[in-house]
Amino acid sequence: MVAETAVWRDRLTAQERAQLGRGAGVIEEQHPDVLVVGGGIAGVATAAACHTAGLGSVLLIEAGRLGSGATGGAAGLLTPEIHEWSDPEPFVDLARASLELWGELEQTWPDGVGLIELDWIGLAPDPDGFAPHQRPAVEWLDHDQVAELVPGLARPMAGALIRRQARVNPLRSLARLAAVLPAVATGTAATSAEVKSGRVVRVATTAGDIYPGAVVFATGMPPVLDGLPLDLPASRVKGHLLVTEPSPVRLPGTVAPVATQLDDGRLLVGGTFDTGDETPTVRQDVIDSILEALYATLPAVRGLQADYQWCCFRPRHPDGRPVIDRVPGLENAWLTSGHFRTGILMAPVTAHTIARWISAGEPPVEAAAWSSVRFAERRHIRH
Ligand SMILES: Cc1cc2nc3c(=O)[nH]c(=O)nc-3n(C[C@H](O)[C@H](O)[C@H](O)COP(=O)(O)OP(=O)(O)OC[C@H]3O[C@@H](n4cnc5c(N)ncnc54)[C@H](O)[C@@H]3O)c2cc1C
Repeated sequence: MVAETAVWRDRLTAQERAQLGRGAGVIEEQHPDVLVVGGGIAGVATAAACHTAGLGSVLLIEAGRLGSGATGGAAGLLTPEIHEWSDPEPFVDLARASLELWGELEQTWPDGVGLIELDWIGLAPDPDGFAPHQRPAVEWLDHDQVAELVPGLARPMAGALIRRQARVNPLRSLARLAAVLPAVATGTAATSAEVKSGRVVRVATTAGDIYPGAVVFATGMPPVLDGLPLDLPASRVKGHLLVTEPSPVRLPGTVAPVATQLDDGRLLVGGTFDTGDETPTVRQDVIDSILEALYATLPAVRGLQADYQWCCFRPRHPDGRPVIDRVPGLENAWLTSGHFRTGILMAPVTAHTIARWISAGEPPVEAAAWSSVRFAERRHIRH
């Protein structure tokens, strides 16, 4: 995967790196109480939540290495408040709840999950460029305040400050969460499912058959498996990111749309939306345009080169929002898919929702907004 050229892997300890390739091709548990298919952040967080909730034996399987999908290529920003400007209230509520859960995980998980608190600063030529209303979480900054916080801008800019957001190295969080899981099989792809009397009774994989009590599909895009009665609309949106050489310029937290500064001074830049580009390779013209935009906004870093450059694909449903649901018509199968731009942020709340649903047998209230039924209704209306 192209995401494997991302900066994140190089920053892991040897122990964390080893987690990502755990149990290659070996299924230790053929009859798990819970099988999770997909070792991105959604799957690993869900497996960890099921394990800590005491739902019995949990097996996680992943076709490649853990984090080899969108997770390994994400920017890792956890910024729920900015979604007030673009998303409906239930989405923002979910995102806020998830950042809180990230905070709890950081406190309670053995060695934490690598959460780094930061302030988000958004630059705008004019404060009105953001939103007509001012919310309590946002502090508007005038030109002078921005210039003090972000020295070296090409021209005066106003901005907005949101405190106490966060970021992670997505692979570090993944490795830390996976470390508690008793059974992980990487290099193991689910290939088909057998359904009897409304239950998934068998999942065939490249390493043999599994007979799960319950199964959760967390495959990024909705799962497409022989025998699984599911057909959800989804597409992928490619994005490029780069990380520069260490920069002498100091940025506070993350400055949108400029860059996020990593601990050693490198700048994480980009997050393009290359709609329609299905090629799996990094495009130099896109990387060059990300760098040009950086130099144009922050001339002080002109000439700084990209040490890492990569691309990956965001899984997206037509409304850009995730599905967190039981597979319609099946009693013991759940899915989460289409996390698009915020799957890292949303992982803990998604995991928590599914684990509680499996445990109680009833959907938690917050799940209603993320049902896959919304797409069935749309298809119905169109016809
Ligand atoms: C450029 C870019 C920047 C981003 N920045 C951010 C950000 O700052 N903050 C944020 O919150 N989100 C961000 N995202 C979005 C985030 O990366 C995704 O929403 C998130 O990683 C989705 O996680 P996932 O676990 O659902 O999917 P994935 O990470 O894609 O994991 C799914 C896994 O399932 C495996 N799989 C698929 N089919 C099978 C099968 N049949 N059997 C076994 N395994 C299977 C795949 O190999 C894959 O590893 C960004 C995305 C991109 C592309």
